[in-house]
Amino acid sequence: MLIDTHAHISYKDYSDRIDEVIQVAENNGVEKIISIGVDLPSSEECLKLAEKYPAVYATCGIHPHEADKAPKGYLYELEAFTQHPKVVAVGEMGLDYHYDFSDRKVQRRVYHEQLEMSKSLELPAVVHCRESDDDILEGIQNSGLNRGVIHCFASDVEFAENILETGFHISFTGMITFVKELENVVKEVPLERMMIETDSPYLSPKPYRGKQNEPKNVLHVAEKIAELKEISLEEVMESTTETALNLFNKIM
Ligand SMILES: [Zn+2]
Ligand SMILES: [Zn+2]
Repeated sequence: MLIDTHAHISYKDYSDRIDEVIQVAENNGVEKIISIGVDLPSSEECLKLAEKYPAVYATCGIHPHEADKAPKGYLYELEAFTQHPKVVAVGEMGLDYHYDFSDRKVQRRVYHEQLEMSKSLELPAVVHCRESDDDILEGIQNSGLNRGVIHCFASDVEFAENILETGFHISFTGMITFVKELENVVKEVPLERMMIETDSPYLSPKPYRGKQNEPKNVLHVAEKIAELKEISLEEVMESTTETALNLFNKIM
């Protein structure tokens, strides 16, 4: 069994074939999909998908790109969403200094507020980090939160080690199939601290570069980890699934 721990299947990209996308994933051994919210409307969409499809679970959060647009009182709405039995984490939250779609000060405030919410609700945090390593790490350390994941890991071994020290996990996307610099990170991070994801509809792994990504493709991330760590695919599937079930412990 595989779990796609990070997919944006609530996006319009899938609206005309969402049944098929989920069915094809299940047919390919991807038995659970975590549908990731990026603002209040998409978080609610994720919740609806989770209610409709047994394989789907949801997270609710404000992505750094959307931080500027977060309405006052957004935390109350997020907190209400998290009461749902299939909402397994807060996020995605974080800092993106590559695109800078939101003012950095606002990004930091909204990130810190959601970290605190994760801590107080005892839910893991799903964190997006792009060219913002120091501030991401400082936020986690200051919050005292020790349950979460840096999703779509795209940094170096030193940052990975610092993150692992906080108790957080690391999740890899299809990027590891086409970004050479990440191969060493995959080799260095202990298997039991890593998870896999597609980040659909983005980041299609080889051999699907240029096509819309979807949860079934998480298999190719697992295959690449097996290749780099020189272990069996079976071992990667078992370990990453167990890690995801332990972290996202509201998954039944
Ligand atoms: Zn992200
Ligand atoms: Zn995402």
